[in-house]
Amino acid sequence: MATETCAVCDGEFPFDSTVHLLVHTNTEDGVLEWYVCQQCYEQDVASLLE
Ligand SMILES: [Zn+2]
Repeated sequence: MATETCAVCDGEFPFDSTVHLLVHTNTEDGVLEWYVCQQCYEQDVASLLE
């Protein structure tokens, strides 16, 4: 089963347990694709998006 690396905690998680984020930046990087685990999403990312 495919795994993704969490962009926050660097852990490896099954694809189904990750949240896919598209982060729009103002730099030449353009759009970043992040996968974060559910735990990091709830702890860190949800607060960033408020
Ligand atoms: Zn994580």
